[in-house]
Amino acid sequence: MTSRAWAVGTLVVLLVVLAVFAAVSIPWHRPPAPRADQLAALGSLPADKVARARQFHAALRPGSYGAMAIGLVVALVLGLTPLGAWIVTQAGRPFGGNWIAQALLGGLAVVLVAEVSTLPFAAWRHVIVVRYGISTQSWGSWTVDLLKSWAVGAVIGGVALLGFYTITHFAPHWWWAFGAVGAAGLVVLLSFVLPVLVEPVFNRFTPMAAGPLRTELIALADRDGVPVRDVLVADASRRTRAVNAYVSGLGPTRRIVVYDTMLTEAAPDEVVSVVAHELGHAKDNDVLIGTVLGALGTAAAVIALFLLGSWSGLLRLANVDSIGSPQAIGLMLAVVTLAGLVAGPAQAYVSRRIEARADAHALALTGAPATFEAMQRRLGTVNLSDPDPPTWEYVISASHPSTVERMAAARAYARGER
Ligand SMILES: [Zn+2]
Repeated sequence: MTSRAWAVGTLVVLLVVLAVFAAVSIPWHRPPAPRADQLAALGSLPADKVARARQFHAALRPGSYGAMAIGLVVALVLGLTPLGAWIVTQAGRPFGGNWIAQALLGGLAVVLVAEVSTLPFAAWRHVIVVRYGISTQSWGSWTVDLLKSWAVGAVIGGVALLGFYTITHFAPHWWWAFGAVGAAGLVVLLSFVLPVLVEPVFNRFTPMAAGPLRTELIALADRDGVPVRDVLVADASRRTRAVNAYVSGLGPTRRIVVYDTMLTEAAPDEVVSVVAHELGHAKDNDVLIGTVLGALGTAAAVIALFLLGSWSGLLRLANVDSIGSPQAIGLMLAVVTLAGLVAGPAQAYVSRRIEARADAHALALTGAPATFEAMQRRLGTVNLSDPDPPTWEYVISASHPSTVERMAAARAYARGER
């Protein structure tokens, strides 16, 4: 059997495993939040606040979709014309065309071109979020954040590029196998180290101060059977007025994080409601599920990329001999960007299902639907979320159920619909 036949076979097996794992681990079937409750919830929100949130999103849209469009066009130009290969060759030239220099410097140069092309849109977005009072960041602090995220990206990207092109260099026919294992391993490793190595680059995390709230949260986690050593508070207020909480990490690095803005903006029982939602993520192992789905998906993508490499017309467009050569990084970027746009709505759909399950967990754990609804109203109002966004936008990008859906879920729960 040839390498190609093995690759096809492995890809099929991986996709079947991915489909089975997704089928059993994602809560596909949840009772929908009744639309009548959603409309009643919408009617209960102050009309001027709703109008302002919609204005805010309308103002963000040109920048968001402009970035998406330009990002795609630039990736396609880098990948489907000889430009990407030319940049890689130039980057390696001072080092005598050494493949390691091409892989590392060329790869980072191509990614940087793509990043810089959407930078004006990111700046435009910053102007809007400052104008609407969400962001409290100066341009200086915004720039520092940008440079930090590029530095983190360069380190992770550098390791990935060097690892990937070392494998393609030494195993030109079988790199798909080592690459798939390596890429999946990197996804798992990143899930572990993100909270301890990457998140502290951007925020300071301190254990929640001792007091009635902390005692109540730890007791809540205990009652839920989720061991939580600490609830961490992030100094989010240094860049935003938005309120949020999340859970990240795996096993020993798992933590529940609450924005400091939440503690100043929300009533203590609303914070309890938010943490109950995060405990739902922890209890249902949602980070682990996401990591496994990500690892399987990434492994499958590496193999698909290898198989795509036998499409000679595509290689001719990019002016490269092989999709495994550093010169083909632009082509890879184009394929990954396109695949990301296509997969986005599916990812958002899965995310909304998982978030709705965590909401149901919060309602069951606290038994306090009125507080849950008040908390959703607060989250939506402070963060200027469109409480009932247009369907098309909801379908392509909403990672969470809408504010009115979440309020409606609480109303249905209060009536005894579980
Ligand atoms: Zn959540």
